[in-house]
Amino acid sequence: MYLYNSATRRKEAFVPNHPDVVKMYTCGPTVYHFAHIGNLRTYIMEDVLEKFLRWEGYNVKRVMNITDVGHLSSDADTGEDKMLKGARRENKSVMDIARFYTDAFFEDCRKLNIKRPDVVEPATACIDEYTKIIARLLDTGYAYRAGGNVYFDTSRLERYYIFNDHDAEDLAVGVREGVEEDRNKRNKNDFVLWFTQSKFEDQALKWDSPWGVGYPGWHIECSGISMKHLGEDLDIHCGGIDNAFPHHTNEIAQSEAYLGHKWCSWWMHVLHLNTNSGKMSKSRGEFLTVSLLEEKGYDPLAYRLFCLQSHYRKSLVFTWENLDNAQGAYGKLIARTAALDPEEGAVDRAVVEEQRERFRAAMGNDLNTSLGVTALYDVLKLSAGGRTKLALLADFDQVLGLGLIEKAAAKREADAKSKAASSASGGIVITGEGDPEIDALVLRRAQAKKARDFTLADSIREELRARGIEVADTKEGSSWKRI
Ligand code: AMP
Ligand code: ZN
Repeated sequence: MYLYNSATRRKEAFVPNHPDVVKMYTCGPTVYHFAHIGNLRTYIMEDVLEKFLRWEGYNVKRVMNITDVGHLSSDADTGEDKMLKGARRENKSVMDIARFYTDAFFEDCRKLNIKRPDVVEPATACIDEYTKIIARLLDTGYAYRAGGNVYFDTSRLERYYIFNDHDAEDLAVGVREGVEEDRNKRNKNDFVLWFTQSKFEDQALKWDSPWGVGYPGWHIECSGISMKHLGEDLDIHCGGIDNAFPHHTNEIAQSEAYLGHKWCSWWMHVLHLNTNSGKMSKSRGEFLTVSLLEEKGYDPLAYRLFCLQSHYRKSLVFTWENLDNAQGAYGKLIARTAALDPEEGAVDRAVVEEQRERFRAAMGNDLNTSLGVTALYDVLKLSAGGRTKLALLADFDQVLGLGLIEKAAAKREADAKSKAASSASGGIVITGEGDPEIDALVLRRAQAKKARDFTLADSIREELRARGIEVADTKEGSSWKRI
């Protein structure tokens, strides 16, 4: 497999450090609010990477942190802790906020078929790991104390900037919010490892440490959690592009200074989801959630398909029109899968191997997911039998995660039911969004119309409209949708 490495700025053949396991680390969400669909683009693409590695036969161990302390409103160590901000906004405790939004995040992941990492670790559970690292950095002169805080001394490094091929604008994302200079810093890029002093004295969570009661900086948590669960080296570290600087740059600085050797081989960065007015961001408050998409009648997996249709190293513009197209394409994909006959023919091994090779070539080329999706359409077009096609679709979907087989089975069952209902209702076919109560009302209206009782038909239509349902007449009966 070839994977682009942001650290070397090249596509490189992927070779794990150890033959028995691929160690993968992912920066998790800051749980002070719902994840927006931009955040989730990053998690979808990381999920595809993990699943493709597993599909290729690697044994992957994946670790993710949950940021529940220390991420300040500017990534550059100033401003208020985001968790405190969330707690104040909702009049709840920081721990309540963390629990609520962690659960909400994994619920969104479930709807998007994003697998839960093998280890999920909240930042607040690993204070001992951070203090161990910070103590050694102080001993070896990579860190210093000033104004009550402990800082990492970036001037001690031969090379600090690792990911400087990105747009200046991308790199500046983390420091955009009018950063005030911290006078305790010896160098501009030095960053806080441990806070005891902050302008925001009401920090809710504090721990004892050799440097006073305080709390960890945001960057140290990912080094500490990764080393706790994955040891002294990593194969792949992932995150959104805004994490490259300063967060990942600082993770590398402190981890390699602490370990005395190279830490992580591959860096995978997912470009942003933007709206027409710019980057989608939680702090700006203008963001779309999975629940909002559902309320508007979209299947979360149509959003997953939308993400897969473009490459993770290109920024992606979200518009409702684009999502409508993805939803339409997703519906057709399910319908075409459902139309296959699971009993037709035997699995043709030669065809399966040939198609698997094509899929492997697409996905193995730096995760070309749009070609991966094209491979699904190619399977549907094959002249092979239903058994062969379904075996291939199920195989590829282990990586793409579109829920094709389950959704197609559900559609087959729903179609069979509506066929049965139609023969029971004198040949009238009702199609809709799968709500039996609405189906029954729409059927009564269609029957009234057939019996030329237009007063009753109109009054049912009014009742449905009042409930937000629009009915359209079709050749076989009626169809309805929520508006
Ligand atoms: P956060 O919860 O802010 O710590 O972010 C969680 C993940 O989402 C990180 O990997 C970010 O880099 C990523 N991210 C933030 N904004 C976007 C966006 N607009 N598009 C894609 N990924 C994003
Ligand atoms: Zn991180």
